[in-house]
Amino acid sequence: MRNNKHFRPTKAIIDLNAIKYNVNELKKHIQPNVQIIAVVKANAYGHGDIEVAKAALEAGASMLAVATPDEALHVRKHIPTAEILVLGYSPASFADYAAEENITLTVYSPNWVEEAKKVCNKSLKLHIKVDTGMNRIGVTTVKELRSLYDAIQSAEHFILDGIFTHFATADEEDDSYFQKQVHRFEQFIKALPEKPRIVHVANTATTLVKDARLQYDAVRFGISMYGLAPSKFVKSKHPFPFKPAFSLETELVAIKQIGPGESVGYGATFTVNEPTYIGTLPIGYADGLIRKYSGQDVLIDGKRVPIVGRICMDQCMIALPTAYNIGEKVVLIGKQKNEEITIDEWATKVDTINYEVPCIITSRVPRIYYKND
Ligand SMILES: *Cc1c(COP(=O)(O)O)cnc(C)c1O
Repeated sequence: MRNNKHFRPTKAIIDLNAIKYNVNELKKHIQPNVQIIAVVKANAYGHGDIEVAKAALEAGASMLAVATPDEALHVRKHIPTAEILVLGYSPASFADYAAEENITLTVYSPNWVEEAKKVCNKSLKLHIKVDTGMNRIGVTTVKELRSLYDAIQSAEHFILDGIFTHFATADEEDDSYFQKQVHRFEQFIKALPEKPRIVHVANTATTLVKDARLQYDAVRFGISMYGLAPSKFVKSKHPFPFKPAFSLETELVAIKQIGPGESVGYGATFTVNEPTYIGTLPIGYADGLIRKYSGQDVLIDGKRVPIVGRICMDQCMIALPTAYNIGEKVVLIGKQKNEEITIDEWATKVDTINYEVPCIITSRVPRIYYKND
């Protein structure tokens, strides 16, 4: 199909075999009967929500989690049957749509239940969010939990399907704040007259390095499904290796040799002292290659070469040791010959976490799915 073809060579390659491998490895690691909730919010951390969700379900995940109502509707449009949980806020006005589409919502306020009741007269599944220390969303007292529970019970069409919380420091070595949250959660659970079908608290870090009892009925598997570690600490304790799924590639589209005193790019910030080959790549900050990545290495012919000068909106320049041909493949993230540039390296370069790196590669970069079977 003509409109499915991408003419610009800049592409993110998503290895769905890696996603499946990571889900399978996790399955071996967790307790029997613990379900895997595949977290595919934010377009599956920039990897592509539909393809990743399908791969995760094929590998044995039993539920999908997204952050917003719109993400849930997008996933539902392509995946008609899987359970979908919205982890974040949904307006009460969404309740009727959620019920219609069999989307499970997170709830943390009795007022929300009252509002939602007015607009929704179909069966709607709800998970209660408990705030045990993130101080983001969730009920914060047992009293609030009870009134929320009562509100749900008194609503004819609402089903309390689950309860969960989220940890602020599961990926850190210091356990004290984490244990405080665990203790608070247990108090909340005790205060509930009956246990809902699914209790879940564990993100990737909790699942990998904390007490197996915290896997409860399901774990929320996010970052390591994509082959990335939640933190250096968790990486050092990873019970098994994961495979990264995301690579970023492009091609050399221009090359020239410039002489001493010549500069590269806006602001003429990079000036050479000797004859230097400068290559141009068709990727820039509008693709998520933000200007702070200037100086970052890329791979050409298995060798590291730096991005030089300011990154433009749609292009950037690299300094080359020799004259490569137009069309020569360039890897920005991933492996080439014996070299590799990881998402972790990119994160370190701009002083952030690996989660942020694929998320901010914009939709202008097509995601191409790789799956050998
Ligand atoms: C994003 C998110 C997760 C996944 O976290 P990872 O560290 O990627 O495993 C789990 N639970 C909630 C509530 C989240 O928002």
